[in-house]
Amino acid sequence: MTAPLVIEFAAGSALLREHDRKSDLTILRNGPPGTFVHLGDVHISLPTDQIVMSEERADSVSMGFGGMRFVGIRDGRLTFQRVRDLRPEEELSPDRSWTMTLEPHWVAAIHEDGRQVWPTPPSVDAAGLCASCTYAKVITSSRGSAFSLCQRSATDPEFPRYPALPMRACRGYDPRG
Ligand code: SF4
Repeated sequence: MTAPLVIEFAAGSALLREHDRKSDLTILRNGPPGTFVHLGDVHISLPTDQIVMSEERADSVSMGFGGMRFVGIRDGRLTFQRVRDLRPEEELSPDRSWTMTLEPHWVAAIHEDGRQVWPTPPSVDAAGLCASCTYAKVITSSRGSAFSLCQRSATDPEFPRYPALPMRACRGYDPRG
């Protein structure tokens, strides 16, 4: 999964393309006009001219963007700004959006330049071994709070779903490579 900015949408998300939508604009690969992420009863519209990749899995979708940066949470919403157009001005819509905002509960994680930037992964001080374990998955609540979920708990009841942190010793620890 390579793109300057990758947004992993929440479980249950799917890519929706309106193939019939006509446009004279040149659009990159996966981003024709009418590309949405569908989640529950919401259609999330995207700055399609900035999309450079999409990855569809069984239960969710990730979208990659160029020329966009994550600038943090503004007014309770994850906020992204267009910092550079990927195509020449004449190929782009004059009505293109400069800011994208998303509800935090729509999103599982945000990566910039290959590094997770939201939710902020727990530090070694705060999480102990879970901070660097393959089986730890950072999840976020609808209010934006981050927790570490132990994925071993799905198959082994000895592992708590949400371990008490910091974890100082664990027989299941598997350091991320
Ligand atoms: S296996 Fe242990 S160290 Fe790894 S995430 Fe689970 S509780 Fe944390």
